[in-house]
Amino acid sequence: MLSTRPTTRPVQFASDNYSGICPEALDYLLQANQGDAPAYGDDDWTQQAADKFREIFDIDCEVFFVFNGTAANSLTLASLCQSYHSVICHELAHIETDECGAPEFASNGSKLLLAQGEQGKLDPAHIERLITKRTDIHYPKPKVISLTQATEVGTIYTTDELAAIAALARHHGLKVHMDGARFANAVVASGKTPAELTWKAGIDVLCCCGTKNGMGIGEAILFFDKALAEDFAYRCKQAGQLASKMRFISAPWLGLLETGAWLRNAAHANRMAAYLEQQLQGIPGLNMLFPRQVNGVFVQLPQALTDELYRRGWKFYTFIGTDGARLMCAWNTTPEAIDALVADINDVVGRLAKSG
Ligand SMILES: *Cc1c(COP(=O)(O)O)cnc(C)c1O
Repeated sequence: MLSTRPTTRPVQFASDNYSGICPEALDYLLQANQGDAPAYGDDDWTQQAADKFREIFDIDCEVFFVFNGTAANSLTLASLCQSYHSVICHELAHIETDECGAPEFASNGSKLLLAQGEQGKLDPAHIERLITKRTDIHYPKPKVISLTQATEVGTIYTTDELAAIAALARHHGLKVHMDGARFANAVVASGKTPAELTWKAGIDVLCCCGTKNGMGIGEAILFFDKALAEDFAYRCKQAGQLASKMRFISAPWLGLLETGAWLRNAAHANRMAAYLEQQLQGIPGLNMLFPRQVNGVFVQLPQALTDELYRRGWKFYTFIGTDGARLMCAWNTTPEAIDALVADINDVVGRLAKSG
């Protein structure tokens, strides 16, 4: 007898990775399931998806597919560093706060050096201080600057800000890695091309969103400097990140890219977050923590309000980036879900005011 399937509450603002697989990715996944195909990425789907990335980014880059973002970031950073090197990142960076030490593990010890900066963005002056404060042999030599686009607090770097950080990196002989778990959201929000936001601004490697954009599984890694990708396939294989049936990662990717769904999904999620922000701004006493630029709204909620929303079954995180609430929208977030959340917030705020 089949056990009862768990039903997921359709409304949540916890993360864009709570969402299902979008129709375009699912369609290509099913197409790739017709018949057999060569294993380990030697198939047509993988070739076509990689070529599509090259076309969209307007550059002949090296493309790899792995299962998740932690692996993409960690293996990429490990390939740019020796174990005695260090990686400069923001103190709120996912590689620091949410990867369980995987970048250090994968690199046999390359240390993360934490920099500060407003709105989740690295401040070049802080980066430079970390690079130049020591040159002796007792300090792990800075080798990579890692930045997140869009950031963990839903902001985006402008192309000028990216170029300034990349110039600093070049000046000191460092490489630049971009964690693009929400890269598509940054593309549509900025109005810049994928090329302008990456290699044209001096980014060496991009780990590109799959799961949060509408895939079931899988991230892409783009090495714009092909020399940096030497032997990277071996690193993926050794780390257990070489999918034998790779077409089930690459075909959905092709679906996202070829149909334009990757940008449509991101644009929808950004629009929903803008709507949510606008609704929340109408509620007295709620303060926004960061300017909303992509698909996340960060808002300071009174503890009693958070507790009551959780009690009513709403899902959202309160520990990502700040002590406020993070409300994430995805490719499938509906205005009705937002209206329902806002109605509950209004209701609870009203009751608290009466009882307070
Ligand atoms: C979600 C996310 C990742 C990837 O996380 P996985 O759970 O390993 O796929 C990486 N960076 C950022 C900023 C993220 O939000």
